[in-house]
Amino acid sequence: MGIAVATPRCQVCAHSKLGEINRICMDKKNTNGAIGQIFGVHYKSVSRHRNEHLPKAMVEYATQQAAEVLAVETPEAETPQDQINALMTKARSVLDKVEKKKDYTNTIRALREIRGCIELTAKLNGQIDQGATINIFAAPTWIVLQTAIITALEPFPEARAAVLKALPAS
Ligand SMILES: [Zn+2]
Repeated sequence: MGIAVATPRCQVCAHSKLGEINRICMDKKNTNGAIGQIFGVHYKSVSRHRNEHLPKAMVEYATQQAAEVLAVETPEAETPQDQINALMTKARSVLDKVEKKKDYTNTIRALREIRGCIELTAKLNGQIDQGATINIFAAPTWIVLQTAIITALEPFPEARAAVLKALPAS
């Protein structure tokens, strides 16, 4: 390292403490000058690195964090709810870590994971209607009423046929 090459390389990317610098760069309170001084890099290099290279580093870091969340061990005997709970626990611990680091990108990701777990739990427990609409024609009251109407119309075959035709196919 340190040997000058024809194409100018990013001093920060080439730095042995790149990971640490990236973490510090993610916090907007740290100025380019301050970071440059700590790591012995020109402030302009820090600025360029922040603008051009940091987003990519953040995406990679976030992908790695997400992979960790997904890599939760799920023994076979567990129910879907157990698996969701395990995922939730893991996502919460990731949330704790990234929140402390003020890593907002990953905080949002962890929150999304947690929200996903809550939604899955609600779906499992039948608290969310998948179609987002209430199907009245599947309601017990409607079925009783429908049977009563059809029975009542038995003396009037034409009306009965018309009603049957108008009813939604079940
Ligand atoms: Zn760089």
